[in-house]
Amino acid sequence: GGTQTRTAETEALRTLHRVFGYDAFRGAQGEVIEHVVAGGDAVVLMPTGGGKSLCYQIPALVRPGTGVVVSPLIALMQDQVDALRALGVRAGFINSTQDFDERRTVEAELLAGELDLLYLAPERLRVEATLDLLSRAKISVFAIDEAHCVAQWGHDFRPDYLALSLLGERWADVPRIALTATATDATHREITQRLGMPDARHFVASFDRPNIQYRIVPKNDPKKQLLAFLKEEHDGDAGIVYCLSRASVDKTAQYLSDNGVQAVPYHAGLDGGTRALHQSRFLREEGLVVVATIAFGMGIDKPDVRFVAHLDLPKSVEGYYQETGRAGRDGMPSTAWMAYGLQDVVQQRKMIQGGEGDEAFRRRAAAHLDAMLALCETASCRRAQLLGYFGQEAPAANCGNCDTCLTPPQTWDGTVAAQKALSTVVRLQRERNQKFGAGQIIDILLGRRTAKVIQFDHDALSVFGIGEDLSEPQWRGVVRQLLAQGLLAVEGEYGTLVLTEASGEVLGGRREVRMRTEPEKAVRAASRSA
Ligand code: ADP
Ligand code: ZN
Repeated sequence: GGTQTRTAETEALRTLHRVFGYDAFRGAQGEVIEHVVAGGDAVVLMPTGGGKSLCYQIPALVRPGTGVVVSPLIALMQDQVDALRALGVRAGFINSTQDFDERRTVEAELLAGELDLLYLAPERLRVEATLDLLSRAKISVFAIDEAHCVAQWGHDFRPDYLALSLLGERWADVPRIALTATATDATHREITQRLGMPDARHFVASFDRPNIQYRIVPKNDPKKQLLAFLKEEHDGDAGIVYCLSRASVDKTAQYLSDNGVQAVPYHAGLDGGTRALHQSRFLREEGLVVVATIAFGMGIDKPDVRFVAHLDLPKSVEGYYQETGRAGRDGMPSTAWMAYGLQDVVQQRKMIQGGEGDEAFRRRAAAHLDAMLALCETASCRRAQLLGYFGQEAPAANCGNCDTCLTPPQTWDGTVAAQKALSTVVRLQRERNQKFGAGQIIDILLGRRTAKVIQFDHDALSVFGIGEDLSEPQWRGVVRQLLAQGLLAVEGEYGTLVLTEASGEVLGGRREVRMRTEPEKAVRAASRSA
């Protein structure tokens, strides 16, 4: 009834003031909390930094019993619990880092009704003893954090999450709230279905992060480009640099350190102590740069991360959005910067083909990559493209805060260039029954008599030197865009180039190919003067 709802609302607001010291709810928080306090299930999609925690912490405090939070972020539980205790909230956790006595203490507190919040790793709920423990306690709400981990095709899939549907079966009258910052329609549907929450109310916040400036530049000399970006725009700022491999993480961190940037590496190959140290230094110190594989950053609450840089192409737009979303949680201007090139496309296409998984898995991975490439190659607003991917509309056609809006890229008619490149692939295949990678194709186009060109007698091909009108970087751009547009494909462990079905349309003159010219220098100048 009305009175009851109003009481819940007031109580929630009182808790917000009294416990957390905040004036007002942000965005959808108030509505979500009211719904869950009243006993309803909720699926909450909010960008990183949107304030998801309060959405379950306040219901846990307002409703009688203990709120159980399922989270995969074991490394952060101690910090989360300490922070809550400092506010006077009775919080505890159970995970594999505890010894027997510590766990017994928490269990006893739970059974005595002395806990407001209990954090649990998902694998705990596969153990009957834990379920038994929970059934002897009074539970106020189940919160399933990082709920996209239940999505099998997602980039953070955790099999343990699949077992969480049993919460709804065993505790039918306890409200559940699933939260995530990853929100394609597909992931959204999978969360609802796999967690068994058909009646949940859905709260979808805007995914726009207006204070983040998105920029994607062509990759030439990535470490140098990164250093220039840091020195020119983020000298002394805290930030994260993502690389795909451990080796490049180590090399990049070393390179930055050698060049006067305070930087430390973070990846799964480092021992636990070093990782914990680098993470806590990042949280505590000002102006530290962490160079990391994607393993770094999930759940880290550092508001003043001023930039996120990618030296390698992320595997999906979801991943890119989550990683870049770690910048600027305080709302201050921040940069999402990425260097992207031909080799990224070749390498990822190769990885998908040579990787594990069945045909369906490969198709999904390829679709993820295609969406990511579309974002990289777009000549219109990156923010609009990004939001469009999540099914949301951009606030304006021109956001004024991405590279393509700040300096609209030129496009050119690349049809003839495309035909030259594709013809070279065709000649090699038809006349010589050979397949080669991008490097050799470009050398042939440019008419270069390299050792490998001479070895294979490629200077005798009719296409030898037909591409002398363009420079090598331009040809790399052409081949990259052909790959991105599906007009060329990558095959085998050497990443050789082969035609696709669509190539024929270009060769036959039935399809025009528009290409973009990336104005890297202009972008840098524009953002400096802004
Ligand atoms: P998320 O989990 O969605 O990434 P958090 O729950 O960690 O976000 O919240 C991000 C930051 O915003 C935290 O520092 C939090 O204290 C702060 N915050 C959340 N809600 C409010 C609010 N209503 N008023 C002021 N600050 C808030
Ligand atoms: Zn824009």
